[in-house]
Amino acid sequence: MTARLVEETSDATDRLQAQLMDMQTIVDDWRANAERHLDRNFDFLHRLKTKSDKAVDRVAHRMHEEAFSIIDCTRCANCCKASSPQFRKSDIRRIAEHFDMKASEFVAKYLKADEDGDLFLKKLPCPFLGTDNRCTIYEVRPQNCAEYPYTQKKGFTFRTHSIANKSLDCPAVFYIVEQMRARRRR
Ligand code: SF4
Ligand code: SF4
Repeated sequence: MTARLVEETSDATDRLQAQLMDMQTIVDDWRANAERHLDRNFDFLHRLKTKSDKAVDRVAHRMHEEAFSIIDCTRCANCCKASSPQFRKSDIRRIAEHFDMKASEFVAKYLKADEDGDLFLKKLPCPFLGTDNRCTIYEVRPQNCAEYPYTQKKGFTFRTHSIANKSLDCPAVFYIVEQMRARRRR
């Protein structure tokens, strides 16, 4: 068997395994194991720093696509309930304009600064989360929200610490990390 054929067979097995997973299985696994597996996932992610950045990105991006082909974020919305995005100046301008407010009014009403002066929501869950778990300002949402959970971005190996932490809040990130770890062993 050529190396390429081995790789294709392994890809097909992975796809089959993914098709067998459904969202509830992933969420149940995350609830039961995210904290329990945190140390080993930290170790695994830390060891990835010794690997080729491009190779790790390729696998991470494949797992990202797979995770979000199974997970429907509108049935979760945990990120909008558990943590605040950072609101940068451009986000504030855009969202304030959307509400026909001054940027300063928007900041005073919704945001507070952390010790570095960066702006985050005053309260969680996010006030822009609708009762149907959809973002009511989706078209103008903060850049952080549009990019969350960052597993599709280049440079996975540079963000291993934050990815390990996000696996506690996001079932998709937990799935991505667990699958990367499991498939690496095969
Ligand atoms: S926590 Fe993760 S899976 Fe849940 S809504 Fe946010 S990005 Fe989607
Ligand atoms: S702005 Fe929208 S996507 Fe961002 S945290 Fe709030 S509800 Fe979620």
